[in-house]
Amino acid sequence: MLLLLPGPVTTRPDVRAALSQDIAPWDNDFRAFVAGLRGRILRLAGGAGDEHTALPLQGCGHFITEAAVRSFLPPGGRILIPATGAYADRMTRLTREAGRVPVPLPMGLTDSADPAAVAQALAADPSISHVGIVYSETGSGVIHDVQAIGAAVRRAGRRMIVDAVSAFGALPFDIATQPEVDAVVFTANKCLEALPGVGFAVARIDRLLACAGQAGSWSFDLCDIHQQAVKAPGSFRFTPPAQVLAALAVALDHHDAEGRAARLARYTANMRTLYDGLCGLGLTPWLPAARQGPVIVNVHAPADPRWDLQAFVDALKARGILISNFYNTPSPTFRVGCIGAITPEDMAGVVRAMDQALVEIGITRRGALPE
Ligand SMILES: *Cc1c(COP(=O)(O)O)cnc(C)c1O
Repeated sequence: MLLLLPGPVTTRPDVRAALSQDIAPWDNDFRAFVAGLRGRILRLAGGAGDEHTALPLQGCGHFITEAAVRSFLPPGGRILIPATGAYADRMTRLTREAGRVPVPLPMGLTDSADPAAVAQALAADPSISHVGIVYSETGSGVIHDVQAIGAAVRRAGRRMIVDAVSAFGALPFDIATQPEVDAVVFTANKCLEALPGVGFAVARIDRLLACAGQAGSWSFDLCDIHQQAVKAPGSFRFTPPAQVLAALAVALDHHDAEGRAARLARYTANMRTLYDGLCGLGLTPWLPAARQGPVIVNVHAPADPRWDLQAFVDALKARGILISNFYNTPSPTFRVGCIGAITPEDMAGVVRAMDQALVEIGITRRGALPE
């Protein structure tokens, strides 16, 4: 089965096979293994051992994002969040529920977040300490310019938290060149092509120490995780998903062998094969080609009155392909992930299967409804 959700993603067999073992998470061998894994993640983010650290947290992407918001903003602290789409909305909600204050920066959903607008909003409100930006907005498929926005944040003397959950491992990121970044957060199960169950923050050590004690949550306190890592490198505070970490190490071997830039090129080729193929079928992608990122393609629902997303999903599933049975755009769409252990050849097969599935569920008008 191809998982094009786009997360969790399709994984390689040896990554999945790493799950089938019993592991003692408090064993000294496992601690050394985790310490090594943290070092590999740190290097992937461009971190330096004395300046930055890679901190693992059990759970999903929302957990590690909330941990970053809680750990670096004090209660009542204010964070500007460009309204890039569904995942900016999620950061906004978890910020508010953590007792911090999200300040939305309205923008067009198909636009790239504008560094000048960020600079202006920061200049207008000195009480905003942070900017929270979604690097790859999985809701829209747009990639935002984290380097340019970071430069605006740096000039304004503020701090930044980057949700790179659907970007890290494919899109470039180098924390050494972005000193305004308090933390970049991501999980194992998207562009790193491993399994769900663990997230990471790569963070500045000086900032972690300066922010100690304000998280208001023991579970989600990155400073506490850092202190544990200093005290006993590779040991977790609470039971870790040991098998998921074992699988991540195998996935990182594949990442090393492929290289980040080649992985991005493969995802871009996947996206292009899909995007052009869908156009060839008479479907209408939601984003113009120039704005379309390599991670996820949203496609307008066909204007045909018989359109039924779940029926389409089921017809694809019968052909070995799983896409999401929900959408994150204001008007009806379906969404297809382009990331994971898949190739442009797989994507060409996906296009053929979509053609058959549309016929099977009786769709004759494939173009989009007028907006
Ligand atoms: C997938 C994703 C998340 C986190 O999702 P979880 O279900 O919590 O793992 C956060 N941000 C972005 C941009 C994502 O794509």
